[in-house]
Amino acid sequence: MKKYINPDNNKIEAILQRPTAGVNEIEPAVKQVFDEVMTKGEEAVLKYTELFDGVVPENREVSRSEFEEASLKVPVALKEAITTAARNIEKFHIAQKTEKIRVETMPGVFCWQEKKPIEKVGLYIPGGTAPLFSTVLMLGIPAKVAGCKEVIICTPPGKDGSVNPAILFAAQLCGVDRVFKVGGIQAIAAMTFGTSFIPKVYKIFGPGNQYVTAAKQWATRYQVAIDMPAGPSELMVVADETAVPAYVAADLLSQAEHGVDSQVILLSTSAGFCEQVENEINTQLADLPRKAIAEKAIENSRIIVVDDIDTLIRLMNSYGPEHLIISAREEDRIREAVTNAGSVFLGNYTPESAGDYASGTNHTLPTNGYAKQYSGVNLDSFTKSITYQKISEEGITNLGSVIEYMAEAEGLYAHKNAVSLRLQDLKNKSNE
Ligand code: NAD
Repeated sequence: MKKYINPDNNKIEAILQRPTAGVNEIEPAVKQVFDEVMTKGEEAVLKYTELFDGVVPENREVSRSEFEEASLKVPVALKEAITTAARNIEKFHIAQKTEKIRVETMPGVFCWQEKKPIEKVGLYIPGGTAPLFSTVLMLGIPAKVAGCKEVIICTPPGKDGSVNPAILFAAQLCGVDRVFKVGGIQAIAAMTFGTSFIPKVYKIFGPGNQYVTAAKQWATRYQVAIDMPAGPSELMVVADETAVPAYVAADLLSQAEHGVDSQVILLSTSAGFCEQVENEINTQLADLPRKAIAEKAIENSRIIVVDDIDTLIRLMNSYGPEHLIISAREEDRIREAVTNAGSVFLGNYTPESAGDYASGTNHTLPTNGYAKQYSGVNLDSFTKSITYQKISEEGITNLGSVIEYMAEAEGLYAHKNAVSLRLQDLKNKSNE
């Protein structure tokens, strides 16, 4: 990890730069796949599955018997763990339901807002280097809690054309029974346009590598909504000598092992503590099965030491990490100052993996600095807020002249007329 001690203000932006390729570098590939899927449908999906995943699966949609076989393959202990995690995630997302909001803004003017589920949603489940069955829970559970009618999953097929059994077990647990074996740009394009196999959806959810993230952003050109740009994982740990170096090292490595384009940052007021963490990283790295990936990500990673908490807070918010761990003496002060972060983990006993899997919060979070303007996936991501209003005779009498004056001032006389006609009728009625 590159180390910076009290870096100059004008160097911060460069130091905190993400290692992900810019959308511009990936855009030509995204455009090509989208154009072909739009015109050739399933034929193009198959072509790119073969090209990028090196396989053409026999069944493009997971069959009933594949679901049944998968369930037998998942060890009982893992099934129990997935079920416990699912329960926590469901509890936290059910708690996010809000009541209908109804207000009488003026006597006789009633306005209300109701949430309605998005009818058709597509969930992207990454599967390139690790089968993220946890993402099935993170997306499938809120989709069902929200009441989405049609929920489909796309996930890349393995080299043998199959889908990881734990992904299928989790899908069944969430009540999602349509799973398509397609990943990458071609999956996002297929859900955008619909093909003879894969239904078109209204909103696409899910994390993925930089190709998937760029494809989701491209999809928005075609009247499809996306949850957010959720690309390669990131973690910032803000810690001092009150944290445990081995825990901090393990947390940093837990995100570094996601992908070579992941980034982890240790921000501290103590150079000595950072050294201890570095030693721990080297020790723990040696035993990791995904050492090669984690090592590459560690190359993109940074240690930043600053003298004071105010500078630390400024750097933390200007990076806007996807995941933020705060394990420091001044935990409360730093937590209260957080303005940009996807999800925050506090204290020595809150590893980031708790949120990745099982505590209940969602792990689909904004990366690449998008925590400055996006929230992570939550129940509202699967709903739309529709507003209603009903105005009584008394209400239009109270509000009418306000609308008339404003419409006239904007030069919109039809708008004014829509009120004036009603007011005139009411006047005539009262004179009868
Ligand atoms: P993935 O499913 O996102 O990507 C695999 C697909 O990428 C393949 O199916 C293939 O079609 C496509 N692809 C690979 N190389 C390509 C190329 N050269 N050109 C075009 N397409 C290509 O799986 P992954 O690669 O393992 O990535 C998972 C990502 O998800 C990681 O980067 C991880 O950090 C991220 N993640 C993010 C969050 C979040 O909330 N932000 C959560 C979990 C995981």
